[in-house]
Amino acid sequence: MYGNGQAPIFILKEGTQRTRGKTAQSNNIAAAKAVADAVRSTLGPKGMDKMLVDSMGDVVITNDGATILKEMDIEHPAAKMIIEVAKTQEQHCYDGTTTAVILSGELLKKSEDLIEQNVHPTVICEGFRLAAEKACELLEIHGISTENDTDILNEVAKTALTGKSAGAVKSFMADICVRAVQAVGVVEDGERLVDIKDIKVEKRQGGSIRDSSLIDGIILDKERVHSGMPRTIQNGKIALVNSAVEVKKTEVDAKIQITDPSQLALFLEEEEQYIRNLVDTIENSGANVLICQKGIDELAQHYLAKKGIFAIRRAKKSDMEALSKATGGQIITNIEDISPGDLGHAARIEEKKIGESEMTFITGCPEAKSVSVLLRGGTEHVVDEIRRAFDDAVGVVSVAWEDGAVLTGGGSVLASISRELRNYAETVGGREQMAIEAFSGALEIIPRTLAENAGLDPVTTIIELRKAHADGQKYAGINVYEGGVANMKDANVLEPLRVVEQAIQSATETAIMILRIDDVISSKGVMMDGNMDDTGDFQM
Ligand code: ADP
Ligand code: MG
Repeated sequence: MYGNGQAPIFILKEGTQRTRGKTAQSNNIAAAKAVADAVRSTLGPKGMDKMLVDSMGDVVITNDGATILKEMDIEHPAAKMIIEVAKTQEQHCYDGTTTAVILSGELLKKSEDLIEQNVHPTVICEGFRLAAEKACELLEIHGISTENDTDILNEVAKTALTGKSAGAVKSFMADICVRAVQAVGVVEDGERLVDIKDIKVEKRQGGSIRDSSLIDGIILDKERVHSGMPRTIQNGKIALVNSAVEVKKTEVDAKIQITDPSQLALFLEEEEQYIRNLVDTIENSGANVLICQKGIDELAQHYLAKKGIFAIRRAKKSDMEALSKATGGQIITNIEDISPGDLGHAARIEEKKIGESEMTFITGCPEAKSVSVLLRGGTEHVVDEIRRAFDDAVGVVSVAWEDGAVLTGGGSVLASISRELRNYAETVGGREQMAIEAFSGALEIIPRTLAENAGLDPVTTIIELRKAHADGQKYAGINVYEGGVANMKDANVLEPLRVVEQAIQSATETAIMILRIDDVISSKGVMMDGNMDDTGDFQM
């Protein structure tokens, strides 16, 4: 009954699930840790790959953290938040996704201990915030300036490629990455910028990784429309057209009544004349190459071939834009309006058979602020994984090129910062000190996992690492090949500062976000509890 103050008031729909307080917290933490555990074994050069099979039976083999998490069908909302960390990391830095995810899992794990000791989550959050801020300040101090040094950029690319399937040809791939970034990088008002979209990647299965190459222009996954056209054009003048080369269709459906065969002939002749005129206009502009975003009528193909013009149809819009950028040509809609000034230029246009099919190479572009990379590999899975490794490597090189600062990897900088944060914690005092200490401990998860994945004893290795840092060896990191610790600067293990900084920041933000939740209200049908097994561990 209303109004008597006795009846419970339901504000949530029937079937809504609700978990609160410590249960909500520990569920969320367990889910987030489970995600982190799922990718742990892939970290570092000695990390393993994962084979992911989707519901359609398609297989992806990768050791790329972001890819693994993207392919996994994860339902738990807190687990999804961790996946967001990987996405953010990938968007901003192209690399460090596994690191970011492992770090947020570890931060949450450490918080659990603190919560058990009755430290309030808001205090933990405050401590983490202070620690992350301090950590980023410290990172800047550890930064090594790159100043567009090709050797350093090469090492950054090689570090990103280590442990991936492209790792065997690291130097070869690193060289392609660095040259590509240096070709498209621009300095605007003193700001260094690389638009990664200016590096166009085409992959082709067949051949070996070493058949991959960098082209100062564009590769189109297309062949010329007519075999009568020349295969190669030197000194190409390129018309870029985004409308069809065919007889214009009328807007309304029209029927023509033909009463006499001569009328039909006349009609066809007129159409033919129209096409002829179009092709003549193209030729008169001086073009010897036509790249069309739409279709090219058969008759037009024939005339173009007769005039020795190389033509491609149905080019992708993104390719048209890249072509315009690389060749300096204008994309035109109305062929009748074409003028010599609209044409793009490239030293050489050539159709080549790559693997199973033909591709068109447009090279020697005067303003090659847009380049293409052709990636080759034995099988589809190999090329796909090489593509992912290449994207990471080109990404980190661009980040290093833009920022001009790198750090030594292998857990070296994180070990240093972990130590420095412990000292900082003492100056803060109070309960936040505990949180900062926990944060400092969480950073060691990276060197520890690198050691574990390399088959080393994590405990003795971490002790050795701490000792090295206590002795002032600030570049000491995990020697994943021979065991123990080694100088990561001498080993040329370098990564962009931004990658580590972003990993720390987004891991902290997500951990905080998850810690602040003490009430989970979910509508019917959403999985909330995951499948806790008897040990309280989360199963996915
Ligand atoms: P992420 O997705 O986080 O980039 P990776 O599997 O690429 O994960 O591993 C990156 C980690 O491996 C970084 O901590 C990096 O410093 C470390 N690493 C890379 N190469 C080496 C190496 N030769 N020796 C030790 N650690 C390395
Ligand atoms: Mg990486």
